[in-house]
Amino acid sequence: MRIYESSREPHEVLIAGGGVAALEALLALHALAADRVRVTLLAPNDDYVHRAMAVAEPFGLARARTIGLHDFATAHDAVYVRDRLAAIDAASGEVATGRGRRLTYDSLLVAVGARAAEALPGALTFRGPPDTPAYARLLADLEAGKVERLVFAIPRGVAWTLPLYELALMTAARTAAAGRRPQLTLVTPERAPLGVFGRRPSDIVTTLLREAGVTVRSGAADAVRPGELVLSGGESVPADAVVTLPRIEPPEIPGLPRAARGFVPVDGHCAVEGLDDVYAAGDLTWHHVKQGGIAAQQADAAAQAIAARAGADVVPRPFRPVLRGVLLTGGAPQYMRRTRTDASGETTPDALWWPAGKVAGRYLSSYLAAGTDEDAIPLRDVGAWGSHGDGGEPAAITLALEAADADARWGDHSSALRWLEVAEQLAIVLPQEYAAKRDAWRDALAGVPA
Ligand SMILES: Cc1cc2nc3c(=O)[nH]c(=O)nc-3n(C[C@H](O)[C@H](O)[C@H](O)COP(=O)(O)OP(=O)(O)OC[C@H]3O[C@@H](n4cnc5c(N)ncnc54)[C@H](O)[C@@H]3O)c2cc1C
Repeated sequence: MRIYESSREPHEVLIAGGGVAALEALLALHALAADRVRVTLLAPNDDYVHRAMAVAEPFGLARARTIGLHDFATAHDAVYVRDRLAAIDAASGEVATGRGRRLTYDSLLVAVGARAAEALPGALTFRGPPDTPAYARLLADLEAGKVERLVFAIPRGVAWTLPLYELALMTAARTAAAGRRPQLTLVTPERAPLGVFGRRPSDIVTTLLREAGVTVRSGAADAVRPGELVLSGGESVPADAVVTLPRIEPPEIPGLPRAARGFVPVDGHCAVEGLDDVYAAGDLTWHHVKQGGIAAQQADAAAQAIAARAGADVVPRPFRPVLRGVLLTGGAPQYMRRTRTDASGETTPDALWWPAGKVAGRYLSSYLAAGTDEDAIPLRDVGAWGSHGDGGEPAAITLALEAADADARWGDHSSALRWLEVAEQLAIVLPQEYAAKRDAWRDALAGVPA
């Protein structure tokens, strides 16, 4: 272990990754130890893509926002290096990059996520924005009656199943609105639908599926054959098309230990077991839930530990997971939360945390909601709207929509669209009426005649 003296030299922090955990860690370090650390962000991608919103894209209800990593890093006093982490030499405090550079660090946070692998050949694997066009085509085929039996299938090893429930519910709402009643089936190996959130959310999800006309079948998808989905027990489900989610596979980075199924073992402060000064957060770690909110909480634990190492006045708190998820349903979103002390979980259509974003990160949620972290209030848990004191949040949405309408009336479509982005962050998805207005305002901005 290297010994830190109480020098005023900044503590060199290297964050490898450009996703949820990496951004949350950079925001946390900036908030906790800006004058103590010098941060480098090492990632192969130019932009962070807010994948959690991708499920709403094929329905025209929201867009997956992107954040340019260079500008994001610069705004938080960090340096962005466009390259990838190739190997770690923890003994000398160095990493090798894909382009053959060597970078030194005092603390390293590995937040490189996991690979999204195809889990079910023959099915449409929904990974995020790149699969939006294919899903939009499938929706068109459903609406045209070309696909009559659609199965949403979860094979074993899919670690985050919620997006498939969202696709199923939103598809049911969309086809019903188009006057179609395709046969929609959801096949899951979970003990109960979204049982990871606890009994109460699972019961509500089961009811929502039933009311939407989605049949739930217990089982693990095994193979797609012409006209059917075969389950691991050999049973078959009729299917004209099958939609699934990726199976995530941990990265193989020399110098980084791997534990069960190849994921990285970390302790309560997200320090990598067996390595000095190396931390890991997010989908690559061995936590059984692979989700953005969990990735962000791990990043916070690691950032606090690093800030303390850098000499900041911070008492690091260990990672104590709280599972927060928003289910898009085609109607009101359903907020779900489960803590270690409330195994039954809770759920409501009202926000259970604020800012009410889909990826619940202490700092990232505020940043995504406001587009800046100036005066940002870190994420906090709340009860139902109106029951937690300030009651300002619904008004904020209404105000944003009213401001959008007002700007559009004055012909300022650019500003109107910005207000819609604010409303979208507050409400998760725009009301259908405003999704249509957005298209019209975009056309107006582009000079397309009405
Ligand atoms: C369709 C879909 C919907 C989802 N919806 C939700 C949701 O609603 N809420 C939620 O909380 N979670 C959701 N998730 C899960 C969530 O997206 C992930 O759990 C989360 O992004 C994990 O964060 P991460 O930082 O570990 O990895 P990622 O966000 O995947 O980021 C990994 C980053 O590391 C970079 N990288 C890769 N290799 C290297 C390398 N060698 N060196 C440096 N950088 C590297 C990548 O380019 C990327 O920038 C969803 C996932 C999917 C697929």
